[in-house]
Amino acid sequence: PMSIMVGVGRGAQEGVLVKNAEALERLEKIDTLVVDKTGTPPEGRPELMDILPASEYTPEALLRFAASLEQHSEHPLAAAIVRGAKKQNIALSPVEDFRSVTGGGVAGRINGQAVLVGKPDFLRNEGIHDVEAFESSAIEFQNDGKTALFVAINGKAAGILTVADSIKDSTPQAVRELHELGLKLVMLTGDNRRTAISVASRIAIDSVEAEVEPAGKAAYIRKLREAGRSPAMAGDGINDAPALSEAEIGIAMGTGTDVAIQSAGITLVRGDLRDIAKAIRLSRSVMGNIRQNLFFAFAYNAIGVPIAAGVLYPLTGTLLSPMIAGAAMSLSSVSVILNALRLRKIRLR
Ligand code: ADP
Ligand code: MG
Repeated sequence: PMSIMVGVGRGAQEGVLVKNAEALERLEKIDTLVVDKTGTPPEGRPELMDILPASEYTPEALLRFAASLEQHSEHPLAAAIVRGAKKQNIALSPVEDFRSVTGGGVAGRINGQAVLVGKPDFLRNEGIHDVEAFESSAIEFQNDGKTALFVAINGKAAGILTVADSIKDSTPQAVRELHELGLKLVMLTGDNRRTAISVASRIAIDSVEAEVEPAGKAAYIRKLREAGRSPAMAGDGINDAPALSEAEIGIAMGTGTDVAIQSAGITLVRGDLRDIAKAIRLSRSVMGNIRQNLFFAFAYNAIGVPIAAGVLYPLTGTLLSPMIAGAAMSLSSVSVILNALRLRKIRLR
């Protein structure tokens, strides 16, 4: 308990919030780190980049339709569209019959017109049959690491909006540190494969699982565990909370949702990937410290009790004086406390 208490305090100083002792214990054994794309390696503040409307619409009209709908969604991509519209001083319209399909997109009625925004499969499921043309125009954007959001109005494809998120400056360093700690890095995202691969290739991620539905994310984590690996999952909680709780340990970004923070064992206040490396170093130091303390707690007794019981008496005539026994008793506690306090000074960088 001393080691855990000091270790949790040390973590808090560095912006690593540990929920309980079990979280620290599990973190030590992690060999795979699975990260979500949005909000983890990148900045988590995606921005609207390009607007590509069908010939019947102006870019402003397309953006107004999309942003009006997205103001009711909590997805980071939605926020990017809404900010993009605000920047261009586009007034948003009221929405009726708003619906959100997890890991797919959003739908609603604006001025009597049925509007959809989301990924191509979501539009197809909603009965839009002319998405292909825009899918081919999206390819070059996706190869650039941008996410394309497809818009349909009144049953017809109406254009695409692209959104990009710049990689955090600290991410390459973080990936290097995590590799040095022996972890394998996997990116797990619901986004398009081309976009995911382009983003992953910039930051030396070991493997990419793209176009995964929210339920598929949890299933993927389960599969890793069944294959004998110990995965940690870091995410923002939007469409990945089940995966966070399925992992050996869930790591929530402080910038993420409450549900992520609820289901995670570790919360990173700053949402910086380097803090995952810190958390892992912390858990390894704390668990090492606990083992040393167990040694201190038992060693004195293992030596002292038999001597006090007289095992040496027939050989050397030695017995343990009660005074020395008393001192040993307290020394064992003092050693444990002093050793645990060393954790205050450990380096996590
Ligand atoms: P990620 O793993 O990148 O966080 P999600 O499962 O949250 O992915 O979403 C997968 C895809 O579904 C997104 O890349 C986007 O194309 C689409 N999508 C989800 N929610 C929305 C939304 N509110 N508006 C538009 N598209 C969305
Ligand atoms: Mg997400």
